[in-house]
Amino acid sequence: MNDNPILLDVRSLRKEFGENRVLCGVTTQIRKGDVIAVVGPSGCGKSTFLRCLNLLEQPTGGEIYLEGNLINRIDPALHEETAPYVTESRKRRTKQEKAEEAARRSEARKRAAESAEGKAALATERKAERARLREAAEDRREKKKKLKAAMKTLEAVYPKNDVNAMRQKMGMVFQQFNLFPHMTALQNVAYAPTRLKKSVKAEAETRARELLRKVGLEEKADAYPASLSGGQQQRIAIVRALAMQPDVMLFDEPTSALDPEMVGEVLNVMTELAKEGMTMVVVTHEMSFAEKVANRVIFIDEGRIAEDEPPEEFFANPKNERLKEFLSKVL
Ligand code: ADP
Ligand code: MG
Repeated sequence: MNDNPILLDVRSLRKEFGENRVLCGVTTQIRKGDVIAVVGPSGCGKSTFLRCLNLLEQPTGGEIYLEGNLINRIDPALHEETAPYVTESRKRRTKQEKAEEAARRSEARKRAAESAEGKAALATERKAERARLREAAEDRREKKKKLKAAMKTLEAVYPKNDVNAMRQKMGMVFQQFNLFPHMTALQNVAYAPTRLKKSVKAEAETRARELLRKVGLEEKADAYPASLSGGQQQRIAIVRALAMQPDVMLFDEPTSALDPEMVGEVLNVMTELAKEGMTMVVVTHEMSFAEKVANRVIFIDEGRIAEDEPPEEFFANPKNERLKEFLSKVL
């Protein structure tokens, strides 16, 4: 196990798209130097999980701490703690409910005018009604108090954050490399550090050249993406993210769009990076990479982490039924 400090602390992370509950409470700690492979069937929420980590998607609940700092801000109306009060206070009686109530009252008044029993019944009912109203008012006061308290906590816990500064600490690599097509390899790598004033242009370019050398592409520095193979483009996408000197690298199926003969060169770069101690979260279908390089393998099922084990245990002794089924298909 890894005893390093916690880099990303994810607590009860939730994400819904309308009615579609994709993540329903993901809790996990990612420590410095962890290499975590995330696996699971298509549509189980792997990409959503990664995208929530660096706030490309806004989580609808839960908390993400990066090096101890809370980085997400939750809309109180979406937050589990306050949502019930918010929605109840917004509830209105329907027209039909109001009409039914009026009809009932007029019926009771008619009966009261006709007989002594009716009169007594009306008095009892009015007394009950007053008690009910008092209770409802008390209930509203109570809810208002709770909502106010909850909002106050939320505001204290969810300060406004500089999302960009935070995102710079996380490098992201997508399935579709997403290089800037009108820039050379070198410009792609040097662009963000220069623009975000992490370094001056000459410095950024020297560093970009070093990074390209590191992945065997120094001689492609002046080439444009369109003239490069998928494997070359993806290696450049990786060093482009590294150029910002991130604390953690997030990979979303980085080899899924590649021809089979190019998968190896990209996995080699990632393996090297892992050996250097980079913290990595890798969504992948490459089970051999998960087995050989990761120190933890996570299986997502029904919006939660259903299994989180070192690879030896994960593959040799899966406990979750759906993981067993998944492994029988992919291995
Ligand atoms: P995976 O990466 O494991 O294949 P995803 O995270 O891409 O799964 O998707 C999980 C679920 O979330 C799917 O049902 C998908 O349709 C839904 N989803 C993902 N992104 C969006 C979005 N931007 N808007 C609406 N639904 C989305
Ligand atoms: Mg995906």
